[in-house]
Amino acid sequence: MSLKARAQEKVERAGISNYSFDREDLIMCGIRYAIEACDCGEPDCDGVRLRKNIGGVARSLQ
Ligand SMILES: [Zn+2]
Repeated sequence: MSLKARAQEKVERAGISNYSFDREDLIMCGIRYAIEACDCGEPDCDGVRLRKNIGGVARSLQ
């Protein structure tokens, strides 16, 4: 499964419907997140983590 698909699953599982994708980034509630693979090994880890990408916010909102 692609990272993007995993990230989509993650936000939908969290009950968030207000999101979209811009290239490889996830935009959620107006905030841009970089999608990264996670290999922390936690039992409940879904293999993906979202990193807030502050630099991209202003541009995406204008
Ligand atoms: Zn993890």
